[in-house]
Amino acid sequence: MRSYNILSVAGSDPSGGAGVQADLKTFSALGGYGMSVLTALTAQSTTGVTGVHEVPARFVGEQLDTLLSDVRVDAVKIGMLASAEIVGVVASAIDRYGLGNVVLDPVMVAKSGDRLLADSATEALRTELLPRADLLTPNLPEAADLLGSGEARDIDGMAEQAERLRAMGASRVLLKGGHLASGDGVADSGQAEARSVDVLVTAASEPEVFSARRVATRNTHGTGCTLSSAVAALRPQRGDFPTAVSEAKTYLTAALEQADTLEVGNGRGPLHH
Ligand code: PLP
Repeated sequence: MRSYNILSVAGSDPSGGAGVQADLKTFSALGGYGMSVLTALTAQSTTGVTGVHEVPARFVGEQLDTLLSDVRVDAVKIGMLASAEIVGVVASAIDRYGLGNVVLDPVMVAKSGDRLLADSATEALRTELLPRADLLTPNLPEAADLLGSGEARDIDGMAEQAERLRAMGASRVLLKGGHLASGDGVADSGQAEARSVDVLVTAASEPEVFSARRVATRNTHGTGCTLSSAVAALRPQRGDFPTAVSEAKTYLTAALEQADTLEVGNGRGPLHH
């Protein structure tokens, strides 16, 4: 069986729930060979981030050059980038090494409220990385921030915002509705259980809606990292993004369902990979 090399370009979360640690666990669980280029260290627990130590942009570039001169990379997940300079270095590496299957999770603010991308870097993300993304995976606040508008409130609004983000250059956009109030415009909202709904827009077809049971747990630290990594791990194996997204969402739901079996910290705990 062919083996696939999956690279995470992201920040470290010592608690192991998000960032590069979550990415590597996800890659392994889904049959990929995981690698990582670190952009920042965070001092972090399940209760929040107390500090961020950026890797100098030049050294992010050196990690990429050294690795990519040697190793074939089949997919890339990009997470926390911290600064505009790091955004620029990553964009340039994508071009120079012709990287494909680029999944861009536009990490801006942690669920704890801590900023993971400098305000001044949002414009660089918009102009330098969006156009190089094969799939952009914003949540509702990130999409609103990238568009400079309010958050979408229902599925039609999500599809419309995802289209606008695609018009900014990303090949495909998966807008994640986890922050949507349950029932908002969700087709099967008549049912008792709450649904988590994501919308995928591509050039090829009508918006596709992915819906899963919303898992009742407070242990949701790293859900965004996990979903984008799962798509990156699965895309080379499955051959197309819609299949990879659908299976990634199934994986995420299972990881959330098992999260309460872990005993990690006193805050918002991690998922079980
Ligand atoms: N820390 C790092 C290094 C991350 O990359 C991220 C998210 O992408 C987070 C923390 C935040 O994770 P969450 O918002 O799921 O708590």
